[in-house]
Amino acid sequence: MRRKLVVGNWKMNGSVESVDALLSGLKTIDADADSVAVCPPFVFIPSAQSGLSSSAISVGAQNVSEYSEGAYTGEVSAGMLKQLGCQYVIVGHSERREQWSESDAQLAAKYIATQAQGLTPILCLGESLEQREAGNALSFIEAQLRSVVELVGVGSLSSAVVAYEPIWAIGTGKTASPAQAQEVHAHLRDVLASLNEDVASKVQILYGGSVNAGNAAELFSQQDIDGALVGGASLKIDDFASIVAAAKTA
Ligand code: PEP
Repeated sequence: MRRKLVVGNWKMNGSVESVDALLSGLKTIDADADSVAVCPPFVFIPSAQSGLSSSAISVGAQNVSEYSEGAYTGEVSAGMLKQLGCQYVIVGHSERREQWSESDAQLAAKYIATQAQGLTPILCLGESLEQREAGNALSFIEAQLRSVVELVGVGSLSSAVVAYEPIWAIGTGKTASPAQAQEVHAHLRDVLASLNEDVASKVQILYGGSVNAGNAAELFSQQDIDGALVGGASLKIDDFASIVAAAKTA
């Protein structure tokens, strides 16, 4: 039985004041161990870590360098994130693939750097609206998964999380229907099962794309949806708490 995981991706949002307020709210959420995480901007990771020290909520990062140290201005290594107590790193978010032109090879290197420090990568995959409308969603996402798995090895997925995030549903208010999401999640699990059944049955596959307090429970009722990667709604404490509660009772 796979447990549900809810991860908040704060993106580049927040101020010292608003982060303090969000952390005060998060502390009151009754989270089970390894079931909830938040990924603040790098600069707020230490405050999140100390603000959540009495809570079971874990902290992660939204990005990481593929390099371990050296003359890489502006980069942050997985070793540094580990020292700050991070547990997760989001890798391959569509915003990074699109706006920073991150390639499969680069994000595979980030994934490997993350695992080398004992942190858990959250590998994001997802199709554009054009690809979905052309009927190519499943084949595109499968190709994205396979190209990373070829570089990192299927066995590594036993210490990773996968997130299906259709690009057309991110920050748009348009959620994939539970059936659309389930179809993709089941397909990803089938692809993995053809490579390693044990990994496929255990890996958590999260859905991301306008998850909110109103649609979370139905998404979580789908057999292959093991939780959510939540953007906008993770900044609103009542919404995030409702999503966590929906995961708990799913
Ligand atoms: C995300 O960016 O990972 C995301 C899913 O955003 P939103 O929930 O705002 O669509």
